[in-house]
Amino acid sequence: MAKDTRHTRDAAEDTLDVLVVGAGFAGMYAIHRFRELDLNVKVIEAGSDVGGTWYWNRYPGARCDVPSLEYSFGFSKELEQDWHWPEVFSAQKDILRYADHVAERFDLRRSIQFNTRVTSVEYLEEDNRWRITTDKGETFEAPCCVMATGCLSVPNKPELPGAEDFTGQTLHTGLWPKEPVDLSGKRVGIIGTGSSGVQVIPELARQAQHLTVFQRTPVYTVPANRKPMRGAVEQEFKDNYPQIRESQWNNQGGVSNFRPVKSVAPDRARYLNRGEGLKIKSMTPDERRRQLDDRGLESILSFSDIYADLEANEIANELFRDKIRSMINDPEVAEGLMPRGFGIGCKRQVLDRDYFDTFNRDDVTLVDLRSSPLETITETGIRTSTEHHEFDVLIYATGFDAMTGALLKANITGRNGQSLRDKWEHGPVAYLGLQMHGFPNLFTVTGPGSPSVLCNMLVAIEQHVNWIGDCIAYLKARNLATIEPRPESELEWIGHVNDVAEGTMFTSPGCNSWYLGANIPGKPRIFMPYVGGFPRYRERCEFEASRDYPGFQINA
Ligand code: FAD
Ligand code: NAP
Repeated sequence: MAKDTRHTRDAAEDTLDVLVVGAGFAGMYAIHRFRELDLNVKVIEAGSDVGGTWYWNRYPGARCDVPSLEYSFGFSKELEQDWHWPEVFSAQKDILRYADHVAERFDLRRSIQFNTRVTSVEYLEEDNRWRITTDKGETFEAPCCVMATGCLSVPNKPELPGAEDFTGQTLHTGLWPKEPVDLSGKRVGIIGTGSSGVQVIPELARQAQHLTVFQRTPVYTVPANRKPMRGAVEQEFKDNYPQIRESQWNNQGGVSNFRPVKSVAPDRARYLNRGEGLKIKSMTPDERRRQLDDRGLESILSFSDIYADLEANEIANELFRDKIRSMINDPEVAEGLMPRGFGIGCKRQVLDRDYFDTFNRDDVTLVDLRSSPLETITETGIRTSTEHHEFDVLIYATGFDAMTGALLKANITGRNGQSLRDKWEHGPVAYLGLQMHGFPNLFTVTGPGSPSVLCNMLVAIEQHVNWIGDCIAYLKARNLATIEPRPESELEWIGHVNDVAEGTMFTSPGCNSWYLGANIPGKPRIFMPYVGGFPRYRERCEFEASRDYPGFQINA
């Protein structure tokens, strides 16, 4: 039956200034900020509530790797002071509680239409308007459109032979059900050992009767610093929030250098001397090993020379493999867990709790897909080149079509009917990860070419939404019709994004990360986020806004 494509005009739509797609933290803050700027905003969200990443990724063990007091909004002093984080690094449920609190506190939900997926985003050239069509057959229009669709919001479910034949329950970490999943007494198989896999695997092992881990690429994971929030630490942070926020804005990765030294007096020496800045190449093998024994596996990340010097990096990788050898009882399993062929720093750093210990359990089996490739999924399990493994539940921890996935899936069409998919055929081309030439008044939050996933995302989101809000308000105040980047600005910026990534571990030989699109078959291999650091990036954005947007074309 043909869909009813009525143009849905609510009372406020004639005066609608901005349509926003997505109600994760980016879409949520956009509502608040745009209202402050007197812009009329409407948000469309596929999920049934706010929170984005933390709404969808409810798998056991899901947790943030940025300290809670920093992975939080800085726009409201009162919110900063009132909210209490129970742990130093928050679990998914606490971040979702925070999202709920923010939505209530700032009355955000009245501007959001939930349970609605945007299926196309089309520029109406004659009217200088954007039209959004939804899976419910509705359309909405506004002069500006903001894609707050997330960098990691399209789960990747690889096409594996026989996948449809499996008769047990199938789950994806990125689409975990709201209802509790009872795995007790069940045999569970899991594919994937990235950040999500590493977090969920120890939890699954505790619940399941037996867990089989199908691993294609082993991981350089280090223990997460997981602990309850101490009142004195929380207070010291809260007393210093202005300084912390400033420090975030001036830090490469959007995380402050603040250390609560007053309230951690007994640990003071540890805080002040964490072995940071040591060069692995200048140390003897004994000194290196002692560093790990004394300060833990995580101290391997603090060697300052491993991120730019391939030789130093390989010494660290070998040290890491040595440590695995000493931690895992079965030498064959230990060998299987050792990353080779790429170095620490190529991928997003993974943090874990009890990951390696899990493989010493009798009820956990590691299947190394490098030596026994997956042949097919069957009705009852997975057949590799050497064995058939049976289980009742199959879990995909296979990641996301990152950074460009949600934007391309939204079927965006700009001027002259050009689709974003065509424009990005050879990789994303955008200016500052904020706008694309040929797509006037369309904005992306934390888009490709911005620091985004290399940064504390809440800091990146606030900076982007502020910039976009100010830009739209600028147009409105001057009665200007459209803004879009000049083609030469995009090309210059993308060249710069590639140049700064060149020679880093992110693009080193053998590195295949989702930053490069390497996890999705056929995706162009381009390093997508901006590695030049948040302060440098922010200065460029501020330069544009303070000089009347010289890198952009503005039409009256
Ligand atoms: P999202 O939270 O992804 O929200 C986007 C929203 O857009 C979603 O709700 C989605 O349903 C909606 N949407 C997308 N397409 C459409 C459409 N066509 N129609 C309607 N709605 C649509 N970042 C950190 O800085 N630190 C961390 O420790 C960290 N941990 C993470 C852990 C996991 C498991 C994952 C997946 C990501 C993590 N991230 C982390 C990154 C995280 O995505 C960001 O921190 C942040 O939550 C992104 O917010 P967002 O609003 O930009 O996007
Ligand atoms: P990911 O890092 O892309 O890992 C996906 C895993 O699935 C990899 O081990 C991958 O193996 C495997 N895989 C994919 N396709 C496969 C196939 N066809 N056959 C076998 N194995 C396959 O995804 P993720 O773990 O969901 O993490 C994505 C990002 O989300 C992280 O990098 C991080 O930014 C964020 N995240 C953060 C946290 C946190 O700690 N805060 C937690 C979860 C997620 P290959 O490596 O061989 O491709």
